[in-house]
Amino acid sequence: MSNKKFDVVVIGAGPAGYVAAIRCAQLGMTVACVDEWQNKGEPTLGGTCLNVGCIPSKALLESSQLFAASRNDFPEHGINVKSVSIDVKAMNARKDKIVNELTQGINNLFKINKITRVHGHARLSPGKTVKVSDRGSPQTRETLEADNIIIATGSSAVRLERAAIMDGYIFDSAGALEFDSVPKTLGVIGAGAIGLELGSVWSRLGSEVVLLEAMETFLPAADRHISRAAFRSFQQQGLDIRLNARLLSTSVKQKKVHVTYEDTRGAQQIKFDKLVVAVGRKPNSDFLFGDEMGLEIDEREYIHVNKYCETSVPGIYAIGDVVRGPMLAHKGSEEGVMVAERIAGQESAVNYELIPSVIYTHPEVAWVGKSEHACNTAGIPVNVGAFPLAASGRAKAMGATDGMVKIVVHQETDRILGVHICGAQASELIAQAVSSMEMGASAEDIAMTVFAHPTLSESIHEAALAVHKRAIHIKN
Ligand code: FAD
Ligand code: AMP
Repeated sequence: MSNKKFDVVVIGAGPAGYVAAIRCAQLGMTVACVDEWQNKGEPTLGGTCLNVGCIPSKALLESSQLFAASRNDFPEHGINVKSVSIDVKAMNARKDKIVNELTQGINNLFKINKITRVHGHARLSPGKTVKVSDRGSPQTRETLEADNIIIATGSSAVRLERAAIMDGYIFDSAGALEFDSVPKTLGVIGAGAIGLELGSVWSRLGSEVVLLEAMETFLPAADRHISRAAFRSFQQQGLDIRLNARLLSTSVKQKKVHVTYEDTRGAQQIKFDKLVVAVGRKPNSDFLFGDEMGLEIDEREYIHVNKYCETSVPGIYAIGDVVRGPMLAHKGSEEGVMVAERIAGQESAVNYELIPSVIYTHPEVAWVGKSEHACNTAGIPVNVGAFPLAASGRAKAMGATDGMVKIVVHQETDRILGVHICGAQASELIAQAVSSMEMGASAEDIAMTVFAHPTLSESIHEAALAVHKRAIHIKN
């Protein structure tokens, strides 16, 4: 057993932790990063995002979208393909290769930045000490001391007792990225971002997918026009989304998952070949420290931090999914950069008002800032402008006319308060809204900007023009 001293020890090598570690190293600090993740028995960096989250899900979304397009859209383009079939093993191999390349890339970045990589389970001890053991073992293998500790332990899928994970039948989101064949029928509990993305993958590949969502509102965090447009689109493409549907019980009989749920009409029954539970994620704050550390945890198990990610103990910070705010990779990464820079004495901050949310369905859904409804509730006077993609030449040429762009601005100042998109490439389009809003742009600023033609981006221009009833390609 060895004792080592570092300027910073980061616990967790997901997008929050590995980015924090790299930025600390760039700023001249000595850094160790402890992580316990294993992929098929091999220690791997990148956390949830790279191993079982953002990246593998996007790889499968890409494959499945190509498959669906080849079946549904190619004929209209005059492209005749005799028979199209999906090789799930090859699709998974491609996904695994992408994951391996990216996780290996982080390993290389750690080497370049001279970050000490420690594999194992970390536990905090008083005096800014981190004890590392093998998962499940009470034995400390290594002790690290630090001037500063950054906790970036992430989150895990919420489990439901009523739908306990069962090999071959009931899966969490990670399991749903590993199916070895396309289930004929697939149930998904939870129609949030993860449920919708995973449901989309298998639906495009041919599964009959039913999503059971407990809430009566679809995507309540999104602007209502956008969530309605997305709901219509998803239903049309065959995703059967049942709102107000609360799971009561599950059982496996005759190789089927039998699900009982309750909706406004009473108890309903349905059976599936496979069931995915995607009901949210909870912070990984347990087994990390004892009461003697003096770290505060809130009632939902998030480590309590202020806006600078400082915990109740000086010199100990927490970032990413383990603290309040949206559970998104880019939010955690920005917190990692902020904390590293603050440790180095800089005045960095994260603008929590402008963290974009994206759902990578088809069409995609993306937004930043406030919805019209949230402004109304808060008594903020707003003007709105919307532009349907059906009126965009580029969207027509792409065969992607579902959806719209909507801009919400302050009635008095014209400053943009929110941009909401349902449509192809919304994940890319939203970045220009974030940049504009970061710079305090008004609808008029966007209206005066030249957008290349024909692009989907023109829809943002037209929506900004529509705020003042001067959009060109629609009736105002
Ligand atoms: P994590 O990525 O969870 O990493 C935490 C790391 O800490 C892990 O490696 C874990 O092993 C390690 N750890 C935990 N406790 C200890 C300990 N005691 N000792 C040592 N190591 C420990 N977000 C997006 O922004 N875009 C998306 O498209 C997106 N898609 C997603 C799709 C799916 C299916 C899922 C499940 C999530 C998705 N997310 C997405 C969410 C995203 O993955 C998380 O927000 C992000 O990974 C959080 O980063 P993090 O660094 O806080 O935690
Ligand atoms: P997210 O938090 O965005 O990943 O979404 C998870 C979704 O699961 C939310 O929309 C929840 O309302 C939904 N949910 C949570 N518990 C249940 C349940 N028991 N049955 C159906 N849906 C649920």
